[in-house]
Amino acid sequence: MSQSNQEYIVISGARENNLKNVSLRVPKRKITIFTGVSGSGKSSIVFDTIAAESTRLLNENFSMFVRTFLPRVPQPDTDAIENLSMAVIVDQKRLGGGSHSTMGTITDISPILRLLFSRVGKPYVGQAHMFSFNDPQGMCPECNGIGRKLGVDMSKAVDMSKSLNDGALMLPDYSVSGWEWNMIVQSGDFDLDKKLSDYTDEELDHLLYSKARKVKMDFAGKATNITVEGVIEKFTNKYIKQDLKAKSERTQKTVAPYISEGPCSGCRGARLSQAALSSRIHGRNIAEMASMEIGELLRVIREIDDAVAAPIVKSLGERLQHLVDIGLDYLTLDRETDTLSGGESQRVKMVKHLSGSLVDVTYIFDEPSVGLHPRDVHRLNELLQKLRDKGNTVIVVEHDPDVIKVADHIVDVGPLAGSRGGTIVFEGSYEDLLDSGTLTGNYMKRPIQLKEDCRQPSGKLSIKDATLHNLQNVSVDIPTGVLTVVTGVAGSGKSTLINEVFLGSHPDAIVIDQSAVGVSTRSNPATYTGIMDDVRKAFAAANKVNQGLFSFNSKGACENCQGLGVVYTDLAFLDSVKLPCEVCGGRRFKEEVLEYKLNGKSIAEVLEMTVEQALEFFQLKEVVRKLQAMSDVGLNYITLGQPLSTLSGGECQRIKLASELHKKGSIYVMDEPTTGLHMSDIGHLLEIMNRLVDAGNTVIVIEHNLDVICQADWIIDMGPDGGSKGGQVVFEGTPSQIIHAEQSITGKYLA
Ligand code: ADP
Ligand code: ADP
Ligand code: ZN
Ligand code: ZN
Repeated sequence: MSQSNQEYIVISGARENNLKNVSLRVPKRKITIFTGVSGSGKSSIVFDTIAAESTRLLNENFSMFVRTFLPRVPQPDTDAIENLSMAVIVDQKRLGGGSHSTMGTITDISPILRLLFSRVGKPYVGQAHMFSFNDPQGMCPECNGIGRKLGVDMSKAVDMSKSLNDGALMLPDYSVSGWEWNMIVQSGDFDLDKKLSDYTDEELDHLLYSKARKVKMDFAGKATNITVEGVIEKFTNKYIKQDLKAKSERTQKTVAPYISEGPCSGCRGARLSQAALSSRIHGRNIAEMASMEIGELLRVIREIDDAVAAPIVKSLGERLQHLVDIGLDYLTLDRETDTLSGGESQRVKMVKHLSGSLVDVTYIFDEPSVGLHPRDVHRLNELLQKLRDKGNTVIVVEHDPDVIKVADHIVDVGPLAGSRGGTIVFEGSYEDLLDSGTLTGNYMKRPIQLKEDCRQPSGKLSIKDATLHNLQNVSVDIPTGVLTVVTGVAGSGKSTLINEVFLGSHPDAIVIDQSAVGVSTRSNPATYTGIMDDVRKAFAAANKVNQGLFSFNSKGACENCQGLGVVYTDLAFLDSVKLPCEVCGGRRFKEEVLEYKLNGKSIAEVLEMTVEQALEFFQLKEVVRKLQAMSDVGLNYITLGQPLSTLSGGECQRIKLASELHKKGSIYVMDEPTTGLHMSDIGHLLEIMNRLVDAGNTVIVIEHNLDVICQADWIIDMGPDGGSKGGQVVFEGTPSQIIHAEQSITGKYLA
C-alpha cells in the first residue's frame, strides 16, 4: 500500500443497492460531504458500505469464542475498503429513555452538577448521589424520582359551588344518599346545606383529607364502629396508592376518569428528596438549576468562585458551552429526552462525542442541519470542524448549501435517482463543484426567487393568547386557502404553536410529519399505500387461485422468516442484527407461490420493482394512481417491497403525503417536509403543495428552507430567539415584505 493511500479511506467496486461499481477515496481527518438527489445512492455508499464494513470489522475484533455466538454480518457488496477507522454513526433517531432520561443524564452533565452541590451546596447534605433522582437515597420518596404522580382530578371530583345535599361530591359512591355519602352524613361532622366554597379551610380539609378514624354510628338501630376517612384521602388510598390494574376491569373503567397525572405534591416536580432540595448555591437548589435554560445556567455556573470547586466548575462550563455552541441553549437539563425533535436529538449526540476523547474515528452524520435555521448553521459547521481538528474523519450526508460550503471534499452522487443514479458525478472542492455542471453545482449557483403573485386568503383561522411552553401570549391568524410557512430559529416556538396549540383545536387537520410509518415489520410501500391489495387481486385473477396466497402473513409466505425476507437475531450487548433468510433468499414467499406469474413476473419480482419500474409495468387504474402519487412526491426510486423501517424520516413523511394526497382534507400541516430532499427535488415538493392549495386546501408548513419560505403566500416568522427569548410572532406577511422587515432574522437571510 502506498504512503499516500494511508491518507484516504479507499473504496473499490461498491455495488450495494443501485451503486454501479463505484470506486472513490475519502480523505482522512477531513470533512467530506456526500450530496446528490434523493435516491441517488448517498446512503448506499455512506451507510450500507462504509458504516456497514466498519461494524463488521468491529465484530471481527471479538475473540473467535465470542464470535461463534455472533451472527455473521455480511460483507457489503464491494471489492475492497481500505484504511477504515472505527465508525460512529450520529443519526436522527429520537433519544428514547422514558422519564428517567433527561438532557442532564444523557449528556453526563447531571453527575457533575451533583458533585458540585455535594462540594459547595449549603447546608451540606452528603455525598453526590444524594442529589440523584435515580438513586434511592436522593429520589423523592413520594414519586420515586419521576416528578409526576397520579392523583385525583379535583375538577372532576368535587363541585365547590354545591352543598353536600346538592351533590357536591362527584366521585363514584359519593352521590347523594349513596353508601359513602351516608357515612359522611352519619359522622355528623358536616353542614349538609352549606356550599363547599363557604366551608372554612379546616372544615374542607376535614371533609377531604382527614386520616382514617373510628366513629360510632347507628345502623338499623344497632350501634356499630365504622372507619371514616376524608373523601380524597380514601379514594387515593383505595385506587391510586394500590395497583389499579389489579382491580376488576369494571372498577378501572369507573374510577379512571377521576384520576389524572400531575406534578408530584411531595417535590413539586423536582424529583428529589427534601434534604437534597434544601441545599443551595447562590440561593438556587439543584432542581432550580436543572430547570434553567442552558445558556442562563452557564452564566450562573461561571459566577461560582470557589477554589475547591474550580475544576468541577470548569468541566461543567465546558460541557454547557458545547450545548450553547450547537444552538441548544434554549433547552433545560431537566427536559425529558423523548420530547426532543430528531434534529435536536442528533445535535445532543454530537455534543456527547465532542466531550469525549476519541481520535481517529470516522464520524458519520445524516443531514445534521435538520431543524436548524440558516442563522444557526454556522454553529453546526464549527462543531464539524472541531471534530475534524481533533483528528477525526468526518463524513456528512447533507443538502444544505451552507454546510456543503465548509466541506474539504465533496462527493456528488447521481446523476439521478435509483437505476439512473449510483455513480459519482463529481469529486472535489466547493469552487470546482460550482463549475461542474452537475445538478448540485447548478442549483448552488441559482438566485433565490421571491414569490410576487401571492394568493389571496379565503378566510382565517385564529389562535388567541397562546401561552404553552415559551409562547408569550401569542395571537395570530393563519390565512386559509393559501400556502403559509411558519419559520424562525430553533426553539422559537414553531412546533409548539402549530403542532400543539393549533392542532389541539383542529384535530381534523391532516398531519404529515416525519414519525415512522408502518405498524408491523412486514409493512412496505405497497402495503402502506394499499397497492398490495390490488396486486394480490391481480395475481389471484391471472392464476385463478386464492389471493390470500400472496399475502406476507398467509400460508403462501416463507415459513422460515414468516414473510419478512430477513431473520432478526437479538444480541445481548449490540443492536439486533438482521440477515437475509436462507430459505427464500429474501423473496419472502414459498417456491410454489413464486411460480404464479402476472405478465411474466412473480410476486417477489413485482415487490422488487421501484415505483418508476412499476409505473411502466402496471396498467390498473387504481395502482397507477397510487404509484403516480409516490412518484410525484419524489419517491420514484424506492422499491415496492422495501421495509418501511428502512425509510428515512423525510421519506416517511413523503410516503404519508403520497397516500394523503387524494383525500379531501381541508387543512394540511407539514413539519420540515424538505428533510432528505436535494435542492432539485424541492421544486417537485412545492408543486405538490401548490396543487393542494389550488384544489382549495389550506397548507401550513414549518420550514427553514429558504427556497420554500420565499415561495409561500404568507409567512409567519417566530422569534426573536429560542426559548424564553422567543415565543413571539416577529413578522407576518409576504416574501417580498419579509426582506424589508428589520426585526426578522429570516428576512435577513432571504435578502
Ligand atoms: P440516497 O441516500 O441518495 O437518497 P439511497 O442510497 O438510499 O439514496 O438509495 C439508492 C437506491 O437504492 C434507491 O433506488 C433505493 O430505493 C435503493 N435502496 C436503498 N436502500 C434499499 C434497501 N434496503 N433495499 C432495497 N433498495 C434499497
Ligand atoms: P421550534 O419548533 O421553533 O424549534 P419548539 O416549539 O420546539 O420550537 O420549542 C419552543 C420552546 O418550548 C423551547 O424553549 C422548547 O425547549 C420548549 N419545549 C418544546 N417542547 C417542550 C416539551 N415537550 N416540554 C417542555 N418544553 C418544551
Ligand atoms: Zn416527588
Ligand atoms: Zn424466508
